[in-house]
Amino acid sequence: MIGHIAPLRTYLGRVGTRVQSRMVHHKVTIIGSGPAAHTAAIYLARAEMKPTLYEGMMANGVAAGGQLTTTTEIENFPGFPEALTGSELMERMRQQSARFGTNIVTETISKVDLSSKPFKLWVEFSEDADPVTTDAIILATGASAKRMSLPGEETYWQKGISACAVCDGAVPIFRNKPLAVIGGGDSACEEAEFLTKYGSKVYILVRKDHFRASVIMQRRIEKNSKIIILFNTVALEAKGNGKLLDVLRIKNTKTGVENDLEVNGLFYAIGHNPATEIVNGQVDKQETGYIKTVPGSSLTSVPGFFAAGDVQDSRYRQAVTSAGSGCIAALDAERYLSTQE
Ligand code: FAD
Repeated sequence: MIGHIAPLRTYLGRVGTRVQSRMVHHKVTIIGSGPAAHTAAIYLARAEMKPTLYEGMMANGVAAGGQLTTTTEIENFPGFPEALTGSELMERMRQQSARFGTNIVTETISKVDLSSKPFKLWVEFSEDADPVTTDAIILATGASAKRMSLPGEETYWQKGISACAVCDGAVPIFRNKPLAVIGGGDSACEEAEFLTKYGSKVYILVRKDHFRASVIMQRRIEKNSKIIILFNTVALEAKGNGKLLDVLRIKNTKTGVENDLEVNGLFYAIGHNPATEIVNGQVDKQETGYIKTVPGSSLTSVPGFFAAGDVQDSRYRQAVTSAGSGCIAALDAERYLSTQE
């Protein structure tokens, strides 16, 4: 939590290869630079597969290193009992990728052609140039939480406002404080229930007069005495003392009445946007845009094209689960490539 500009700069301090020669072929290409991408790179590099990893240049508005560069303390990644910042963790993963020989390219991939083998890739601003070709791709481009663009949101983002209860709920500023969750689906209900471990009470703001969530989830939160459900309610503005959030201006859409809700935490649970545009129409996706993978694997509908991390995981969305799926993708890609020789 708390400001992300400094760690972001720290991470961007070093830059990998920038200029590409033409007619380049990679055996295996990883697109992305979060925990999934770097874990895949570490495994493939150690297996002497000479992976190339395109880490992006502010791709989808996220710095190389991924979503963790937008936060400070990471307390739940195993192996770091003293906690470390998201940027430090990603810097360590990047160093580990590089140590085993990953070719890290600081470019964003803007176009992919999966229609024939080898696959073709183009980097941003060089779409007219010859494509890079590759025998296999691991897509690990992540996802970004949808935001509401409320007045005050920029000021209090990561200073009371978050889009991940599991990541941020335990931080001291939320302990025994009133909190609010926005959303009407299963995720909103799960986040609200999770936050009752920490907050004094948890409001859940639902725009409509009913939930989208499954009946079983609704029953669970209705039974939880720390949860207060506000139907027909929208948020209008996040307010505070300039440093931390302490009030949410809300409106009842039926009566038009506005109120100040005293809350020290606001959690968006209104969905995520997986970064899958570059493969639109070329590989099977879920309705929500996430890449479809064969359960328990990174295999997609296109042989040789694998997906890892948040880009294919609408449920868990954690650094450690992304890293795990990066490992799976590396092993799947290695196996695939060995059958192509
Ligand atoms: P991401 O981390 O999303 O990284 C994807 C990367 O790919 C990005 O850098 C992006 O720029 C790059 N990219 C995208 N498109 C392209 C392209 N076309 N070409 C090249 N590069 C591209 N999880 C935890 O476990 N613990 C926490 O404490 C925690 N805190 C969090 C706090 C915040 C504020 C947020 C937003 C998330 C947090 N998470 C936390 C969740 C965690 O960050 C994600 O689950 C994890 O980073 C997902 O990893 P990933 O490898 O799938 O992709």
